[in-house]
Order: sequence, then C-alpha cells, then structure tokens
Amino acid sequence: MLDLIIIGSGPAALSAAIYVAREHMETVVFERKTVGGLLAGIDKIENYTGFVAGSGAELAKVMRTQAEHFGAKIKYGEVTEVKKRGEVFELTVDGESVKARAVLVATGSEPAKLGIDGEDLKGISYCATCDGAFFDGKTVAVIGGANSAVQEALFLLKFVKKVFLISHSAIKSSETLKKQLKEAVKAQKIEVLENIEPKRFVSDGEMTTEKQRAQAKTATNVEHKPCVARVIVEDKGKEREVKIDGAFIFVGHRPATTFLAGTDVELSEKGAIVTDGNLMTKVAGLFAAGSVRAGAVDQVITVAGDGAAAAVSIRKYLQK
Ligand SMILES: Cc1cc2nc3c(=O)[nH]c(=O)nc-3n(C[C@H](O)[C@H](O)[C@H](O)COP(=O)(O)OP(=O)(O)OC[C@H]3O[C@@H](n4cnc5c(N)ncnc54)[C@H](O)[C@@H]3O)c2cc1C
Repeated sequence: MLDLIIIGSGPAALSAAIYVAREHMETVVFERKTVGGLLAGIDKIENYTGFVAGSGAELAKVMRTQAEHFGAKIKYGEVTEVKKRGEVFELTVDGESVKARAVLVATGSEPAKLGIDGEDLKGISYCATCDGAFFDGKTVAVIGGANSAVQEALFLLKFVKKVFLISHSAIKSSETLKKQLKEAVKAQKIEVLENIEPKRFVSDGEMTTEKQRAQAKTATNVEHKPCVARVIVEDKGKEREVKIDGAFIFVGHRPATTFLAGTDVELSEKGAIVTDGNLMTKVAGLFAAGSVRAGAVDQVITVAGDGAAAAVSIRKYLQK
C-alpha cells in the first residue's frame, strides 16, 4: 500500500511531490491529461519568484524534473472515485483500484462554459496555447474580460489576423495587460467589444450540406461537427452578428471535484474544497492544495506554497 496518492500534477501537486519524495514517502502522482497542469499551457510566466521569464511549460518541466530527481513517481490516469474504508483510502484510477494511507487532492480547475447555444461547434476552444496555431491568418473571438482573456487574446496575435475581444462588462485586467491591449487596439489587431453579451454561436451553412457531412464523416470516422462562423451578440438590447473563424472562451474556471461525490468532503458555494488550517478536509487523511482549495490564491507561486504546506501536514498525519 502507498503512503500517499496525489491527484493532479499541477504546480501544487509537483511541489508537494518534491517534499514527500525527499522524505522517502511511498507516493504516486496521478495525472489525467498534462503533467504541469494549467501551468504547462501558459505562454509566458514572469511572476514566479526566481524564474525571471519563460514559458509555463519550461517551468513545469523544471518542477517535474526536480520531483522525479528525488524519486517521485508520476503516472497517467484519471481518478474517478475516492472511498475511505477504515484507515485506508481506495481510489479508482482508470478503472483500477489503488490504495493509500493518505490522499492529496490537487486537481485545480476546469474552464467554465458560457452555456449558450452552439458552444459545441467545431472551432470553439478553451485553450489558446493548444489550438491557437489552427487559426493562422484567421479572425477569432475571445470571450471574457479578465486577465486570462486579455492575456490569451494577446497571445493569439502570434497566429491570427484579428481578435474580437468580447466582454459582458468593462475589461477588468491588470494595468500591465491593459497597456499591452491598448497597443494591440491601436495597431487594429484587437477590437474590444465591451458591455456586450454573447448570445449564441452559429455555424457556417456552407459547411453543413449533407454531402460535406458525409465526406467529413468518411474522412475522420467521427460525427462531423459544423464550424462556427458567427457569434450573435446582444449590444444595447439589440442582436447583431460578428463574423469569426473560431472562438476562445475564458470566463473563469470551476474546481475539479466531481470524483469526490459520495465522500464527506465539504465544498464551498463555488464548489472548492474546504480545509482546516493544516489543509485537511473533514475526512481525516484527505488533504487539498492549490486552486481546488477554497480560499487559495490562484497563482503558480501561491499554489506551489500550498502544496508544500500540505506535504508538511501529511507527514505529521502519517507519523501519528
Ligand atoms: C490562461 C491562464 C494564464 C495564467 N497565467 C498565470 C500567470 O502568468 N502567473 C501565475 O502565477 N498564474 C497564472 N495562471 C494561474 C495558474 O495557472 C494556476 O494558479 C495554477 O496552474 C494552479 O495550479 P494547481 O496545481 O492548483 O492546478 P492546475 O494547474 O489546474 O493542475 C491540476 C491538474 O490536475 C489534473 N486533474 C484534474 N482532475 C483530475 C483527476 N480526476 N485525475 C487525475 N488528474 C486530474 C488536471 O488535468 C491538471 O493537470 C494562469 C491561468 C490561466 C488559465
């Protein structure tokens, strides 16, 4: 049986893994998607102490190397269930059962959806780093008005011809980003549509003929989804359309905790995990760290500290 299972491999998880691996605790980190978590997708990171500037992927790689250097085991696998039987945790990972004496949940967050019609059309994405290159020379909409939306709109200019930055309120980003945004607006690369509500995405009719659907299905062997071609927005009570080739949605994140259903873990109103001062949940031996934790500051430097603090508490818990 393992001493500890860490769920997720973002900066919170990797920091905790460095601490526990140095103390020779039998630990496995399970990651369902990308080692490094959201950090691995950040184009440029300038506010992590001791790392002057570089990509999030570079910083994530350094964290992973450091954790593995001390013996941390990182495996791919999605945790779908957590149960506690007596003093032992039993987790379901890709359908298999794995046991440990303690668990650290560091699963971060998932992109929030707008919840409007057409959001499942082809060409709609929640990750500029992953999908930006598919829109070379095209026009895209970025939906959102806070730091992530502005940062990603600026990043997309590496590929796209033009960005419509559509926000239901005034832009609320940091002053540094506002300054960069102003430059891009001046260069006519970004057009800001503030106080405008996206109502639905609409596909390009030309892409949805029976023949095209049949051709696409044969080519990919999957159900063809038509491409987004317009976003219908509400502007001062009237609907109008904005022509686009793609859309990127950055309207916040929600904590990734579905696998905790059926446990006694307390969640906040926003769905984040409530812990005590030792980062332990209401379930003894089940800890949480990083952006999935209620009250955590959602920045790489702070979640890394959270992971380290959780590791210290876990060591004390396991030594009891
Ligand atoms: C666009 C954008 C730009 C940002 N820019 C900055 C910046 O410049 N500076 C900064 O400090 N912060 C920035 N942030 C915030 C930063 O990315 C987060 O604070 C940080 O990544 C949170 O780390 P975490 O370890 O808590 O979770 P995450 O990074 O979200 O990692 C959680 C991991 O858990 C995995 N996971 C989830 N559920 C399961 C499961 N059931 N089984 C297995 N694995 C699972 C996920 O796949 C993910 O890899 C930015 C965020 C975004 C979205």
